[in-house]
Amino acid sequence: MNHVNDKNSLEIEDSKNWMNSSLAKPFLIAGPCSAETENQLVETAIELKKINKVSVLRAGIWKPRTRPNKFEGVGNIGLEWLRNAKAESGLPTTVEVATAKHVEFALKNEVDMLWIGARTTVNPFSVKEIAEALKGIDIPVFVKNPVNPDLQLWIGALERINRAGIKKLAAIHRGFSFYGKSIYRNEPMWAIPIELKRLYPELPVLCDPSHICGTRKLIPSIAQEALDLDFQGLMIESHIHPENALTDAKQQFTPKDLGLIISNLIVRTAHSADTDFLSKLAEMRQLIDKLDDEILQSISSRMAIVDEIADYKKQNNVTILQIKRWEEIIEKRTEMANSMNLSETFAKKLLNLIHEEAIARHTEIMNNKVVDHK
Ligand code: PEP
Ligand code: MN
Repeated sequence: MNHVNDKNSLEIEDSKNWMNSSLAKPFLIAGPCSAETENQLVETAIELKKINKVSVLRAGIWKPRTRPNKFEGVGNIGLEWLRNAKAESGLPTTVEVATAKHVEFALKNEVDMLWIGARTTVNPFSVKEIAEALKGIDIPVFVKNPVNPDLQLWIGALERINRAGIKKLAAIHRGFSFYGKSIYRNEPMWAIPIELKRLYPELPVLCDPSHICGTRKLIPSIAQEALDLDFQGLMIESHIHPENALTDAKQQFTPKDLGLIISNLIVRTAHSADTDFLSKLAEMRQLIDKLDDEILQSISSRMAIVDEIADYKKQNNVTILQIKRWEEIIEKRTEMANSMNLSETFAKKLLNLIHEEAIARHTEIMNNKVVDHK
């Protein structure tokens, strides 16, 4: 990933002032993906309050859906439900806003915090419109990363909102869309939020394991990883009856299950005298684990393209091996590896290994064999 050199600072109010929760770490935003009925929202809120770990209630009422003719949220009526859920549970509320009108309605209805969704962060026009609507208003705003892995776009959105005068600002890492096979709905690509944290140490960064994972069983480990990387909080979806949820049914927990998951998280302190060495070591090992994960994902995507090429060559009666192309790969990549502090011998070994596997897959496809690479 390219490092960003043109560092600008963000003017951030100390998050202790507004993420002020009497609850222990992590700062937790929880609630349904979507508000569906008043009962569902109020009951979820009351149950979430009971687990005594939630700081803010979330619910989407204007839902960005990939395809039309799906449930697109209940709209403005949901603001009334949120008000009632707050009154009944005592939890402050947050909602996703994507337009100036959303901001206006949310503010009129005493929503306490706003978040900008991944599909909105990608669009500077939309972010600008939201920023305009927020001028002169003092409300906490969370900016999710854009859908695509583009740190600059994320930073741009944070800057636009910050320059509108929003100082209670935080980022939410919800993973990035990824072309290829993955166990995640959105790839964590931890290097990106880590780089954001390096560039803006003053900016609180939360993690949304629900939208990274897309499925319940992966969520606890991603939540733990986020805490271990010193993220300041979590946003996790919770629904009173997850299996009946109109959106994101597979990734929501009942409030009770959410309570158990949060209790099982280990909150490590970064500055404990006697555990310093061990926690530093664990942190470094976790980075290694993530990078290994990314290396494997990249190799897997590379092989998927190899398979496509093999098929294409087969259809066009072209040979598997094209020596000129292979020579070019070796030359360019070893040069690149050299400039990245990797030895030429190592780079050649690695490329050869990848190439051997690619040729084997090619051959199998050319010969029409049914392949199971597991
Ligand atoms: C959501 O939080 O329900 C949502 C739509 O998330 P994202 O913008 O991360 O996809
Ligand atoms: Mn959702």
